[in-house]
Amino acid sequence: MRHNDSRGGRDVFTRALGGNRYGVEHATAVRIARNDAIFRDANERIRDRAADHDVTESIPFLCECAEPSCTTIVRLPLAEYERIRANPTWFFNATGHSAVAGPWATPVESHPGYEVVVKRGLAAEVVKEADPRSRT
Ligand SMILES: [Zn+2]
Repeated sequence: MRHNDSRGGRDVFTRALGGNRYGVEHATAVRIARNDAIFRDANERIRDRAADHDVTESIPFLCECAEPSCTTIVRLPLAEYERIRANPTWFFNATGHSAVAGPWATPVESHPGYEVVVKRGLAAEVVKEADPRSRT
C-alpha cells in the first residue's frame, strides 16, 4: 500500500516535470510564431496597399523578427517580398534580429540590411497554420 503510493507519487512528479518542460518550450515557440504571424499580417496589408498604388520598389515593410516591440523598417522590392512570402515558414528580419528567436529560426540567406530566416520545429507548424495565404 505504502509502496504503491510512493511509486505513484514519483510517476506524477516525473510526468509533471516532463510536461512542464515541454510546456515552456511549447509556449515560447507559439509566442514567437504568433508574433511573427502578426507582423506578417501587417506586411500583407502594406503589400496590398503598395500594389494598389503601383509601388514595386523599396516598399517599407516591418521587420518580422521575434521581438514584439521591434519597429525596424526593412525596405524590399515587391518581387523580393513575394519570393520570401511564397514559403510559409520564411520570414525576413533586419540584419542581426534573427538571434531573438533562438533555436526556432535559422538564417538561410543574408542580404544588405536584412536576412531571410526559416522557422523550425513547433514554430514552423504554428506559422504554417497561421499563413494568411493558405486560408482559402
Ligand atoms: Zn526586428
